[in-house]
Amino acid sequence: MYLYNSLSKKVEEFVPHTPGKVAMYTCGPTVYHFAHIGNLRSYIMEDVLEKTLRYNGYDVKRVMNITDVGHLSSDADSGEDKMLKGAKREHKSVMEIAKYYTDAFMSDCAKLNIKTPDVVEPATNCIPEFIHMIEVLLEKGYAYKAGENIYFDTSKLESYYVFGNQSSDDLKIGARDDVTEDTNKRNKNDFVLWFTKSKFEDQALKWDSPWGVGYPGWHIECSCIGMKHLGEYMDIHCGGVDNMFPHHTNEIAQSEAFSGHKWCKYWFHVHHLNDETGKMSKSKGEFLTVSLLEEKGYDPIAYRFFTLLSHYRKPLTFSYDALDQATATYKKLKNKILLVPEEGEVDEKAVEEWHGKFAETVGNDVNTSMGITLLYDVLKTDLNGNTKRAIVDDFDYVLSLDLLKADEESKGGEEDELTAYVEAKIEERKQAKKAKDFEKADAIRNELLSKGIVIEDTREGVKWKRQ
Ligand code: AMP
Ligand code: ZN
Repeated sequence: MYLYNSLSKKVEEFVPHTPGKVAMYTCGPTVYHFAHIGNLRSYIMEDVLEKTLRYNGYDVKRVMNITDVGHLSSDADSGEDKMLKGAKREHKSVMEIAKYYTDAFMSDCAKLNIKTPDVVEPATNCIPEFIHMIEVLLEKGYAYKAGENIYFDTSKLESYYVFGNQSSDDLKIGARDDVTEDTNKRNKNDFVLWFTKSKFEDQALKWDSPWGVGYPGWHIECSCIGMKHLGEYMDIHCGGVDNMFPHHTNEIAQSEAFSGHKWCKYWFHVHHLNDETGKMSKSKGEFLTVSLLEEKGYDPIAYRFFTLLSHYRKPLTFSYDALDQATATYKKLKNKILLVPEEGEVDEKAVEEWHGKFAETVGNDVNTSMGITLLYDVLKTDLNGNTKRAIVDDFDYVLSLDLLKADEESKGGEEDELTAYVEAKIEERKQAKKAKDFEKADAIRNELLSKGIVIEDTREGVKWKRQ
C-alpha cells in the first residue's frame, strides 16, 4: 500500500513496524456537542483507511479516544472548557453531557457504516496513565511547574515543528484578541500537561495528583491512550488537518520525549469539509448534522457516497445541490446493481483478480473515487450475474455503501414495480396487435428489450423473463 505521510509530505510505501500488523490511532471527538458532517468526513475516511488495510491483508488494531475532559475552546490551552460550556448550555452535568454526546456520535457513525474501532477509551478512564507520563517528563527535564500548573518545555526538543506548516499566526499565541497570554509559559508554544490552577474554579472534573487536585491538558490523552493499547510504536495516526498543530505536534513532542525514540511513522490527515460560506462550525449558521440530513429526507449512506467521490487530501465543499447530485448517482448505481441477474456460478478466479485490482487502486493513498470507478467497470464486463454480485460485495467491504444490502431490502418493492410495468407494456402491445399496429407492437417489444426484458409469445399467452 501507499500512503501520503504528512511528516515527509510524500506518498510513501506503507511498511508497518511489525510485519503484517498495524497499530492505528484516531483522535476521537470532544463530546460537548453533536458531531457535524465535517467531523464525520474525517471519520468516514479513517474508516475507509482501516478497511483498506484489512482488505490488503493487514491485521489492524485501531484505538480511538473520547475527549471528555481537558479540551479548552482554543487548542492552545486557553478559552473556556468545552465540556463545561456544553453542560452550562444544557443545564446538565459534565458526565451527562459526555454520555449523551458519546452515544449520539456512536449512533451517527453506525448510520454512516463507520466501524467502531477495536478500542474506544474515554480520557477520564486513564488519569493514572496521564499522571505517570507527566511524572516521567518531569524527571527527564522535559516539563516544569509554573503557577501551579505543569507545562511541557518545547525548548528542550531538537525540532518541535515537525510538520513544518505552521503559519506565523500559529506561532504568535497571545496575539489574538480572545487569547490571553499565559505568563507562566517559558516559551510561547509550551503547553499544559496538568492544570491545578486555572481560571475555572468551577471545573467539574478534578483528580488528585502529585501536584495537587486538578485535571489533564488535552494533548496528553492521545499519547497515553495510544501507548496504553498499542505500545510505544504506532504505525498510523489519523485526524483532521486542524489537528496537525498544535495537537499532533504536541502529541509527538511529549511521546518521543517520554520514550526516547520515534513514536509514529505515518500521519494521515483528512482535509476539511467546508460549507459554501467557508469553514464549517458548530456555532455558525445551520448546524449540519446527520440527523438534520435525515430530517431533510437524505439517506446518511448517500452522504458517505458523496464524501467517497472526492480525495481525502482535498478540501470538499458541501452544498445541498452537490448532495442531491450524489444521491441521484448513488440511487442509479444501486438500481444498476439491482438489475444484475442472480444467475451463473461465481467465477472465483475473476473475483480474486478484481480483488487485487481494487486493493491496489484504493490502496494507493485511499483513492476512493477510483475505487468507485472500478465498480462501474465491473458492471460493464460480461461476467455472469452472480460473479458481478460477488465482486460488488467484496468491494463493499471497504466502501460500505450497502450496495447489496439495500438491494435485498428494496427488492420486494422494486420487483413489484418492475412486474407491474412489464405487464402494462404487454397489455399495451396486445392492444396494438389487435389494432394491427404492428409497428407499435414491435416498438414496445424493443423498449422492453432495451431494459433487459425478453417477451415470448406462447400458446399459453405472453411470457417474459430477464435477459
Ligand atoms: P473535534 O470533536 O472538534 O475534536 O473534531 C473531531 C475530528 O473532526 C478531528 O479529527 C478534527 O480534526 C476533525 N474536523 C474538524 N472540523 C472538520 C471539518 N470541517 N472537516 C473535516 N474534519 C474536521
Ligand atoms: Zn488526539
